[in-house]
Amino acid sequence: MFTEEDVLKEAREKGVKFIRLQFTDIFGVLKNVAITIEQLEKALHGELMFDGSSIEGFARIEESDMYLHPDPNTFVVFPWRPTDGSVARLICDVYNPDGTPFQGCPRSTLKRVISEAQDMGYIWNVGPELEFFLFQTDSEGRPTTITQDKAGYFDLTPVDLGEDARRDMVLALEKMGFEIEASHHEVAPGQHEIDFKYSDALDIADKIATFRFVVRTIAQRHGLHATFMPKPIYGIAGSGMHTNQSLFKAGRNAFYDSEGDMQLSKVAFQYIAGLLKHARSFAAITNPTINSYKRLVAGYEAPCYIAWSGRNRSPLIRIPAKRGSSTRVELRSPDPSSNPYLALAVQLKAGLDGIKNQLTPPVPVDLNIYEMSAEERKIQGIQSLPESLLEAINELSHDEIIREALGPHIFSRFIETKKNEWHRYNVAVHPWEIDEYLQMY
Ligand code: GLN
Ligand code: MG
Ligand code: MG
Ligand code: MG
Repeated sequence: MFTEEDVLKEAREKGVKFIRLQFTDIFGVLKNVAITIEQLEKALHGELMFDGSSIEGFARIEESDMYLHPDPNTFVVFPWRPTDGSVARLICDVYNPDGTPFQGCPRSTLKRVISEAQDMGYIWNVGPELEFFLFQTDSEGRPTTITQDKAGYFDLTPVDLGEDARRDMVLALEKMGFEIEASHHEVAPGQHEIDFKYSDALDIADKIATFRFVVRTIAQRHGLHATFMPKPIYGIAGSGMHTNQSLFKAGRNAFYDSEGDMQLSKVAFQYIAGLLKHARSFAAITNPTINSYKRLVAGYEAPCYIAWSGRNRSPLIRIPAKRGSSTRVELRSPDPSSNPYLALAVQLKAGLDGIKNQLTPPVPVDLNIYEMSAEERKIQGIQSLPESLLEAINELSHDEIIREALGPHIFSRFIETKKNEWHRYNVAVHPWEIDEYLQMY
């Protein structure tokens, strides 16, 4: 644990001149305001105010004064900036002028659900796997959808821009306190994955937010554009953010039971049941864009049906083979365009709901669901994930438990803005329609 004094001391020692105070809006977009070292003490005391009315989904004009409360544990120096007059950042919670946490703050929202788990005696550990594409930029520096390589899963390419960029990303992330476990080329050309060590949920949500902007920054320095858009190119794999998760109680993995069926505990089964129960309704949060639903289609290792398995990789939930303290559940639907704080908050809430209500999951499906007919899926009671953002929003709006996780402010702002996004998409004329109809009619 880092104190305010530690931050001040380290900032001086490392010659920090600028500090970026970061937070995310409800759509997961990272925002920041830079202050100078002279203001740091004031900032650490939560005395810095900003106008929240200009931030998407935040506040109305009449309630626009907000305060930033930096978390000293998130202090880190940007390794790619000059060492003389260097730049650091602090991640902040957003507070109301009356000193209460702002309801629209995603980080405070996640903290609230985490403390619900703590009240039940649990620490929630999370390990995400973020995938992304690296694309070339054109002569004006604008991103294209042209990849710089033709490689595939785990390929060793001749040294190319992608490999160099990925190396620099790993080095920068390590300097910022990430423990990188693996990095590799993914299935699609230009697609990569970098995995970092699991940790408690708040730390991981901060790390996901940091990861996305570091990857994009380093890519840019290599003349590439990194994107976490879930399905940038039709016909090849999209990018997911598989989320490995487990509960710990009194220092022990609460999902492991050497005597249990599949060596899983009762709590693990209940947790899985909770995730499956709410998977359709939290999709709007874990897969929040129009484009998200173009990834959740058959044929690209992304899930589209609500099922789980101890073996098969096609279902929504997989149980990786490791047991003991590494016992975990892997939810495969989330994508990296989601707000990490909210995406984690809803998953945890769903799992806890399963435990509180002692839910039983359906039997695991070890067959390839993609080879089943619609009829067979119906007999087995296998539902589908939402097929569009519209379907997902409708599902979300009926789920009281997920509403409780998000709180009424974020819940209603999110739905309102996403309905509008759907409307804008729906009335637009897309290239597909031109290809399909322009000559036919
Ligand atoms: N890219 C796949 C997805 O969309 C995952 C591929 C993998 O990591 N096995 O989820
Ligand atoms: Mg992986
Ligand atoms: Mg992967
Ligand atoms: Mg995985």
